[in-house]
Amino acid sequence: MTDRKCIGCGQVKNRDELIKITKEHATNSLVINGNAHTFGRSAYLCYNNTCIENAFKKNKLQKILKTPIPQELKGNLINEL
Ligand SMILES: [Zn+2]
Repeated sequence: MTDRKCIGCGQVKNRDELIKITKEHATNSLVINGNAHTFGRSAYLCYNNTCIENAFKKNKLQKILKTPIPQELKGNLINEL
């Protein structure tokens, strides 16, 4: 299983085409594109502004990761584009 669904637009894409946001289990912190040692609940987003904006609308990201999302995460995600 290498296909993942973007929470912004709902499209299924290859893992490499998506930004991965993980709520790391060990530290309870949010990690963008973590490595093989990053374990936790994850959400995926396309590399574009629209999908990032959509993920923050209606607290979508918060609901999926089940954790409060700091506003600065959006800036960090946009930096990945
Ligand atoms: Zn998308």
